[in-house]
Amino acid sequence: MVANKVKNSLKERVEKLKEAGVTPCLATILVGDDPSSATYVKMKGNACEKLGIVSKRIHLPATTTTEELLATITELNNDENVNGILLQHPVPEHVDERKAFDTISIEKDVDGVTSFGYGQTALGFGVFPSCTPAAILTIIKEYGIPVQGKHAVVVGRSPILGKPVSALLLNENATVTTCHSYTNNLPDIVKQADIVVAAVGKPNFIKGDWVKEGSVILDAGYNPGNIGDVEYDSCFEKASAITPVPGGVGPVTIAMLLKHTVDSAERTLQSKAENEVVQSN
Ligand code: NAP
Repeated sequence: MVANKVKNSLKERVEKLKEAGVTPCLATILVGDDPSSATYVKMKGNACEKLGIVSKRIHLPATTTTEELLATITELNNDENVNGILLQHPVPEHVDERKAFDTISIEKDVDGVTSFGYGQTALGFGVFPSCTPAAILTIIKEYGIPVQGKHAVVVGRSPILGKPVSALLLNENATVTTCHSYTNNLPDIVKQADIVVAAVGKPNFIKGDWVKEGSVILDAGYNPGNIGDVEYDSCFEKASAITPVPGGVGPVTIAMLLKHTVDSAERTLQSKAENEVVQSN
């Protein structure tokens, strides 16, 4: 399984960091009491701890103002023991989420939510792409699915999922069509796809008779009741490869978050070492 492979590859790296005096640390911020968000944050924190990564869990009340949230993020930006910051989406409506995301320092944006990080990803030199898009690309690579010259149809254009996964596929030389709620004739467009990415947030939305025989289907959807955005049984009949829900893109997304946190800790250690060399010269 791809998620386990990624996590196993991190164990030794975490040990090496600890030997060098650095314990990787992911700070998670949950604002309010949305039960699904609380579950996601808990799952991410537990996954960190299983791997020896410190999980610093911050839970702010639903009444938190934008300014208070920005102050918390700034404190974490300045905390040299924190390697990654994850602000759980969505925050309560009165909070300026974009401003909060963009306050996260680029070095600690392990969830790939900042505008700057998105720009870097789109231009092809992103350090930490959003975790679900990174997971989708990791699955594609692990299974040796050809991307170059293929037609990829992404259904959804959110800043954390549809847009960055479209950018990553484009960077891999796919021909990408990004669809959204104003797209006309969606089934006809999906039917042209060699690779379908479902990122729409509607249960069982993509139907078997929309997809081409032999296509590869990646279902990023995660709807109440553990239901994906793809109607699995009918699409399974047509696909050459398909990810299930649960157990497909979701666990790899968490593995990507852990990987980015470890990457960030290693980068910090590396730059400390470089600074010491400069100072001793
Ligand atoms: P989102 O912000 O609600 O975006 C949904 C996108 O789907 C929007 O771009 C929207 O178009 C488009 N859309 C809505 N109705 C459509 C229709 N009838 N036809 C075509 N496009 C339509 O959702 P998200 O945050 O990207 O999440 C999408 C799904 O992925 C959800 O199920 C979510 O739970 C899941 N997810 C999973 C993970 C994971 O770790 N596995 C992580 C993040 C999200 P407009 O832009 O025009 O509104």
